[in-house]
Amino acid sequence: DKKLNVVVLGATGSIGGSTLDVLARHPDRYRAWALTGHTRVEELAQACLQHRPALAAMSDETSARLLAERLRAQGLEIPVLAGPQALCDLASHPQADAVMAAVVGAAGLPACIAAARAGKRLMLANKEALVVGGATFMQAVEQGGALLLPIDSEHSAIFQCLPEDRTTWQDRIDHIVLTASGGPFRQRDPETLHAVTPAQACAHPNWVMGRKISVDSATMMNKALEVIEARWLFGLAPEQIRVLIHPQSIVHSMVVCRDQSVLAQMGTPDMRVPIAYGLSFPQRVTSGAAPLDLLALGGLTFEAPLASRFPGLFLAWEALRGPTGTTAVLNAANEVAVQAFLEERLRFTDIHRVVADTLAGCQPGLSALPPVEDLLELDLRARRHAQALVVAQRT
Ligand code: NDP
Ligand code: MG
Repeated sequence: DKKLNVVVLGATGSIGGSTLDVLARHPDRYRAWALTGHTRVEELAQACLQHRPALAAMSDETSARLLAERLRAQGLEIPVLAGPQALCDLASHPQADAVMAAVVGAAGLPACIAAARAGKRLMLANKEALVVGGATFMQAVEQGGALLLPIDSEHSAIFQCLPEDRTTWQDRIDHIVLTASGGPFRQRDPETLHAVTPAQACAHPNWVMGRKISVDSATMMNKALEVIEARWLFGLAPEQIRVLIHPQSIVHSMVVCRDQSVLAQMGTPDMRVPIAYGLSFPQRVTSGAAPLDLLALGGLTFEAPLASRFPGLFLAWEALRGPTGTTAVLNAANEVAVQAFLEERLRFTDIHRVVADTLAGCQPGLSALPPVEDLLELDLRARRHAQALVVAQRT
């Protein structure tokens, strides 16, 4: 049949769940063909029960065993693959047509590369993979003949404002403006930020998301990662990428053309819109999102992000101008620092210190187009560096 077989990597997460929701709205077009999780066994078991995929996988081996037991007890005969390699095998499987990359963090890079090399429709939510992979990732897309579709709402917005023919993008774009909500601490006195808790940082005003990206939104490191992501997705120079705070999260981003015409994409903040577009492009299907009510909203406002409040944001342009691998160091340090903050081993304001100090102390030393193995090795080295800084911050 002509249903699109979709692999959902990170099916137990926030984006994974929204993806399954959109898929279930169009059973005639899409099949949730394979689902993967890492540790949340019960969530994946429920998803398997509801969506009946052909295959399932847990990258954590113990969780894979538990899931297999759990499915057998339910009378479901779905094979469960185990370990990180299973995600790559599914992402490049001959029967898979499309891959939703919704793993969080650099851990998702190998499966993204596998899908890219296998020439899949690759829907990218996992921004860290592109921040770490950079030119190597984009080369895999090109050589594999994959169709790379942005899922991050800002990048989907930019993509929706651009014509299908990618070869025209360069000539058309003067610059782009990524919008940011400003997160939960947009108006909080910076002097009190050292005392905020993980629960406060994860209480995002407009979006319900995984814990890691929620903390990234609070520091605006999320927007720094998105600046780097945009550089690769749209082939822009760092100075062609700007950021504005837009607290209502209605304008998802803008393209400023050479002639100063500004194209913006709007909608209610609901990730099912970019997910539905990634699945259906160049067509459109229903997403389940509520209609945008501009009258009820009253107004849209914009403000400049201040370095005093969001110092992490400005590391993006610095890292893009550094040698190859600098953005991988930035990402690794941030992942380590955010994890430490979530586990209450690091203060909120020290996240930036750990990232900036890791960037200063950890030299990438990579070639211009490094193999994925070298990038993963650098990722590990930067993590160790950052981990040592986390421990030192506590004393
Ligand atoms: P969640 O934390 O909700 O989900 C993360 C998923 O990744 C889970 O399925 C988790 O498995 C899995 N996972 C975690 N670690 C590993 C690992 N080491 N190996 C394999 N799988 C792993 O995150 P989100 O859904 O919020 O975010 C996913 C990605 O999408 C991130 O890169 C984020 O930046 C991006 N994104 C998210 C948005 C959102 O609205 N949530 C918006 C734009 C981008 P398990 O839970 O079973 O352990
Ligand atoms: Mg985003």
